[in-house]
Amino acid sequence: IMKISMAMCKQPLPPSPALDFPPARFDRNMLTLNPYGPKDKVVVIMGATGTGKSRLSVDLATRFRAAEIINSDKIQVHQGLDIVTNKITSEESCGVPHHLLGVLPPEADLTAANYRQMANLSIESILNRGKLPIIVGGSNSYMEALVDDEDKQFRSRYDCCFLWVDVALPVLHGFVSERVDKMVENGMVEEVREIFDYSDSSYSRGIKKAIGVPEFDRFFRNEQFLNVGDREELLRKVVEEIKRNTFGLACRQREKIERLRKVKKWCIQRLDATPVFTKRRSKMDADVAWERLVAGPSTVAVSRFLLN
Ligand code: ATP
Repeated sequence: IMKISMAMCKQPLPPSPALDFPPARFDRNMLTLNPYGPKDKVVVIMGATGTGKSRLSVDLATRFRAAEIINSDKIQVHQGLDIVTNKITSEESCGVPHHLLGVLPPEADLTAANYRQMANLSIESILNRGKLPIIVGGSNSYMEALVDDEDKQFRSRYDCCFLWVDVALPVLHGFVSERVDKMVENGMVEEVREIFDYSDSSYSRGIKKAIGVPEFDRFFRNEQFLNVGDREELLRKVVEEIKRNTFGLACRQREKIERLRKVKKWCIQRLDATPVFTKRRSKMDADVAWERLVAGPSTVAVSRFLLN
């Protein structure tokens, strides 16, 4: 998926007059004169971990004249552990500015209320520069706290276009497993070792809550006492546990989105990206499926949303 994204970034997008929209922001004075006047527009991309939310956010941001991305993954808000937390790389972000990504110290604790405040500031700053904010991330409780705030401020100020990148769970299960294996190949063990602290076995604050950190505790504490074979076996068990926990997270994230749709009546457009994953052995087929099932329909949905 990352490779596909990067390849797409390198290819210049064909000129598309249909996508040349007016800025998402309307003259503030209009709002003062008419409190029921047009609201500012915000795009929200949801989905379980591994489904391609980041790719879609960059695709949309590069297709629309001026857009910036606001992260809503509560773990990626922290600095550090770029491999473990699967942060978008600068190459993958294709020059699109990202807000609230790696901005807090690793140990900082971020409440939903803190996140709401920070995200609102980012939205305002993006809109004040005449650009379109695209919020993307998997922390649905933070997203809910932002959008359904107690005094209904958010809904009264902004119109939202909700997009949900979904992948059938058995297919996502396979992909998430492969992704964890790649993280290990890319240096996950050493990355976690760097923040491991023998004197502290609590994993309830900041970035140490990330899946892939607590699971390594028993490995780092015991590896020095083990022979090569037993060490490998323990590492294999830890990696299996990380895969299970990551898939568990994906299932919970999916359930939360369903709940926001059914119980909270969020009007969320679901995009089924499953064929993108089943065809991923052929990059070309996967790219075609992505465009046909995810990027294309999302572009149409956001175009309509901006013109409304
Ligand atoms: P909850 O209320 O269950 O915390 P949430 O919607 O606020 O849900 P999630 O994004 O689902 O937050 O994160 C829940 C947990 O999943 C985190 O505390 C962390 O353990 C793990 N997690 C989330 N995002 C990541 C990530 N990018 N990398 C590693 N672990 C993550």
